[in-house]
This record gives sequence, C-alpha cells and structure tokens, in this order.
Amino acid sequence: MAIPATPNTLLELKHIQQNYTSGTRTFTAVQDVNLKLHEGEFVALLGPSGCGKSTLLRILTGLQTPSEGQIIYRGQRLKGVNPYATIVFQTFALFPWLTVLENVELALKARGVAASLRIPRALDLLDRVGLDGFENAYPRELSGGMRQKVGFARAMAVEPELLCLDEPFSALDVLSAESLRNELMELWTSGKIPTKAILMVSHNIEEAVLMADRIVVMDKEPGRIVAEIKVELPHPRQRHSDAFRAVVDNVYALLAGQTEPEAAELGSEPGQPGRTRALPHVHISDLAGLLEYVSEKPDDQDDIYRLTEELKIDSDRVLSLTETAELLGFATVAKGDIRLTPLGETFAEASILARKEIFAARIRRLPLVRWLMGMLQRADKHTLKWDVVKLALELEFPPEEAEKQLDTLINWGRYAEILAYDDSSEEITLETLTEKAV
Ligand code: ADP
Ligand code: MG
Repeated sequence: MAIPATPNTLLELKHIQQNYTSGTRTFTAVQDVNLKLHEGEFVALLGPSGCGKSTLLRILTGLQTPSEGQIIYRGQRLKGVNPYATIVFQTFALFPWLTVLENVELALKARGVAASLRIPRALDLLDRVGLDGFENAYPRELSGGMRQKVGFARAMAVEPELLCLDEPFSALDVLSAESLRNELMELWTSGKIPTKAILMVSHNIEEAVLMADRIVVMDKEPGRIVAEIKVELPHPRQRHSDAFRAVVDNVYALLAGQTEPEAAELGSEPGQPGRTRALPHVHISDLAGLLEYVSEKPDDQDDIYRLTEELKIDSDRVLSLTETAELLGFATVAKGDIRLTPLGETFAEASILARKEIFAARIRRLPLVRWLMGMLQRADKHTLKWDVVKLALELEFPPEEAEKQLDTLINWGRYAEILAYDDSSEEITLETLTEKAV
C-alpha cells in the first residue's frame, strides 16, 4: 500500500502516562508517550517485557483510560472504546461450541451485518486467511496456527480502520507463525482489507523488521519511547539480505547498547535516593553458557541477532543475558554485537570454583546485593526471613517484581556462595560470616 505524500494522521497519542497502584505503592508503567500513526502505515512497537507495550495498546483502543494524556483519533479526542480499532491478542479466544464459520459470523452479526450477507462474507474471510475447507470444523479440531487464523478472520470481519496486534505470533510454532505473517502481509500490501493502519506489538526484532514500515523502540522503568527507525525495504523482504541484517543490527544496538555511566547504570540501594536498578532474571548457568559460546567465536565477539538464531532462544532472553553480562563487566555491547571483556574471557575459561569467586566479586558491587548483605550483617544470627526481605523490596518494586528480584538475588547469592537459603525454614543467611564463625 503506497503511503500518500502528505500522510493523514489517523491516531495521535499525546503525553500519555499510566500509573498503576499496588498496595501503597504507585509506579509509572508508561511515561510521556507521544506517538503518531499515519494512514497506510504498519508500525511495530518493540521493547523488553514490562515496558508498557500492552498497556499502550489498551489505551489507544480505549479499553483503558490513561492516568494522563490524550488520544486523538482522526482529529477528535477519544472517549471510551475506540470503535475504529480492533485488537488481536496473542491467543485469540474462540467460542469452542461454535464452528469456525459461526465464530466469524458472530463477529459480523455483532457489527450489524444483515443475516443474508453474513455467510458469504464469513466464507470469503476464511478463504482469505487460508482456511478454505475448514468452515465446519470446531476450534478444538484445529492447530494453534489455524485457530489464530480464525482470530484474524474475526478481527478482519470487523473491518477495523486500525488493526492492533499484541504479539500475535508468539504463541505459535515457527512454521505457523511464518505462514500467518506472510498471509497478513499479503492481505495488507495488496490492499484486500479496508484497514488503514496496523500497529503490532512484538518482542521479536526480526519479525518487526520483516513487516513494519516504522519501528518504535521502547525501554522500561519507566516505560517510554527511546527511538524510532524507518524501515525502507521493499516487500517481500529478504531476511538474509545485507540490507535486512543492517536494520536488524541497528535495532539490536538500540535495544541492548544503551551504556550509561556506571553510577547511573548500577542504580542506588533500596531506600536511598535514585532509582534501584532491577536485576535481570537470569540463571547463572545460562549466563555461563552464553559466555562460553561467545568465547569460542573469533575475537570473542558475536552478532547478537545470530546468537538468537543459533541458540534458538528468543530475543527477549538473549537481551536479558547480554544485559547481565554487561552489568557484571563480562562483556560490552555495541552496534548489535556482544564482545567479551578480558574478565568475561577469564570467566568463560575458568574452573567452577574460580568462576564462583569472580562472580561473587562482581555481584558485591551491585547496590541490591550490597543492600541485602548489609541487612543480613545487622540481623540477628545474620539471618532473615524470606518474607521480611520481600516486604522490604516492595518499597522499590511492585509485589510480583519484588518476589522475582528476591529469587534472583538468592539464586545469584547461592551460586556465589555469599549467602545460603534454607527452603524449609525460608531463611536467608550470610554464608561467609557463618563460615568464619565456625
Ligand atoms: P509489556 O506488554 O510491554 O510487557 P505491560 O503493558 O503488560 O508491558 O506492563 C507494563 C508494566 O505495568 C509492567 O511492570 C506490569 O507489571 C505493569 N502492569 C500492567 N498492568 C497492570 C495492572 N493492571 N496493575 C498493575 N500493574 C500493571
Ligand atoms: Mg504485553
């Protein structure tokens, strides 16, 4: 679909802020988001888990009212649900007692399409998403990929002007995802659907570069837009072309390469002024695996995009791992490449015991670890209950995140042998001091 010379703005988000309150604590999930969507555009929204992508989709479709800011649709301020927009979720809920055809017909009925027109229209839609011949099947008889196609047909039945997709392919197997992506792109680029713009949330960089005209990159804590990239490659795009890879590397660099000065990067201790940096939820064995893998490569360096392909793990996890490697000084990340530091090389080649020592020395620098060690040092018998520490962490993090942070702290601390955790009494103890005391 050609973009007009002066594109019409379909949707505009102005200074959107979303606060969530859990218990006594309010945190900002999305901060000052400004975004325009034009007619004819396919925009991908990319960023780490928890950066507020789904929140933004709910806000712009009117399913949720933001704490602050405005949503302008075709020049009008949006109040309530946006009648021009439809969302397709990761797993589309179909009615199990209705056939494929009836599921689509129902969407047409809800739109007020006359009874006599519904069946031919529904059949046409099913044909377009490649479900010809499955009209009378029930959802349970279909594969995940086919069910998601019914979901698309239903979304299309609504003929939305703005089609919003929230990680629509991430619950599918690789092949179904790929064929559904192609079918959507075929529908979109051929203009066979009346949809004027598509906004797709993804955490898959390659997918975004494959489909979108523009990629909006978000970061978290607080959720905000940090960059925008235009993708000016013609469709259908070639994943293995140099131009494609160059854009992918560029996006990786934006997502993973934000190296801040050390103090800002490490953050402050809980209870102190400044932001406490959350630990990435990473298991040490995975981190060690990544470092070993990269250390086998020429120059102890690798392209992060290639890593996701070779290791068959999703980009979200690779980013958490590279973030951890950077945080601990084991690697540097720049322009979509990860490169081991001399310390990272030493770690990758060290014995298990030596690794534990290096790791212990590195994590003692982290404000969260220092804070926990300090509390344990002051505590009776250098021991604290799990829930007490969790409660203290809730001063900085929402409850669910506080729990994850504590689990990661325990996992890392146990590996480094600087603390012990007793599963039955749920007590955390300072390991080094108990040893000295004996
Ligand atoms: P994403 O889709 O990018 O993973 P979300 O929009 O789902 O992110 O969430 C952004 C942040 O807001 C996360 O930290 C999440 O835990 C939090 N959050 C989302 N919905 C709620 C809610 N209803 N109440 C409290 N916190 C929420
Ligand atoms: Mg989400």
